[in-house]
Amino acid sequence: MQRQARRKPRRILSKLFLALVLLVAVVGGYWFGLIPQRWSPLSPISLDERPPFLVDPRLSVLRFDPALCHAILKEPHIDASPIPDRATGANCGWTNAVKFTHVGGAQIGVEPLTCEMAVALTLWVEHEVQPLAREMYGQEVVRLGDMGTYDCRNIVGNPMWKGVRSEHASANAIDISGFTFANGHSISLKRDWKRQGKDAEFLRAVHRRSCRYFRVSLGPDFNAAHHDHFHFDRGLMWSCR
Ligand SMILES: [Zn+2]
Repeated sequence: MQRQARRKPRRILSKLFLALVLLVAVVGGYWFGLIPQRWSPLSPISLDERPPFLVDPRLSVLRFDPALCHAILKEPHIDASPIPDRATGANCGWTNAVKFTHVGGAQIGVEPLTCEMAVALTLWVEHEVQPLAREMYGQEVVRLGDMGTYDCRNIVGNPMWKGVRSEHASANAIDISGFTFANGHSISLKRDWKRQGKDAEFLRAVHRRSCRYFRVSLGPDFNAAHHDHFHFDRGLMWSCR
C-alpha cells in the first residue's frame, strides 16, 4: 500500500512533464513555422481584414509554405510577384521572397522581401497605418520611406549580437524611414520622432501597432543605430522597443 502511495505522485509528475513537453513542442512548432496549415486548427490569415487574434502563428506558418503565402498576397492589397531563391554568400541570400511596388495603398520599391514579411507589412500598412492616417490627418499615406530590405551583414549597433547575421541578410527585414501623405506632407523618423505634436504621435502609434505583426520592431528609442528608421523583422527573436 505504501509503495502504491509513493507511485501516485510520481505518475502525476510524469504526466505533468509529458504535458509540458507537448506544450513546448506545439508552441515551438508554431514559433518556427513547422506546423503546416493543413494540420493547424487556425484559419489562414487574410489581408481583407484586421486579424483579431493569434496573428504570429498564422504568419509563421507561411515561412515554409510558398504556395499558401503567394495565394494570400493579392491585389489590391499588394502587387507582389515571386522572385527566384538565391544564395549570395555565407548565410546570405533568400528563399520564398517577393518584389512589389505598392502595399496597402502606398508606393514603395521593394526587392527582395520574404513572403511572410510581405504579408506582415501589408497587414500593418493597410489595417494600422492607413486607418490612423485617415483618423489623424483625414487622408492616406501614399508613400513609405524605404531604407532597404536585403543586406548581407551582421547585426549592427549592439555589441551583444556582434558576429550574428542580421535578418536583413536573409531579406527577412525591412527598414522604414517615414511616411508621405496625399497632400504632400511628409514625416520622417529622423526629424519628427523626438518632437512634440501630431507627427510624433503618429510615428509612436504606428510603431506600437507594428508589434502585432513583426517579432522584432525597433525604433529610435532602441539605440542610436535606429535614430532614423523603424526596423521590422520576423526572425526568431522577440522585441518591441
Ligand atoms: Zn533593419
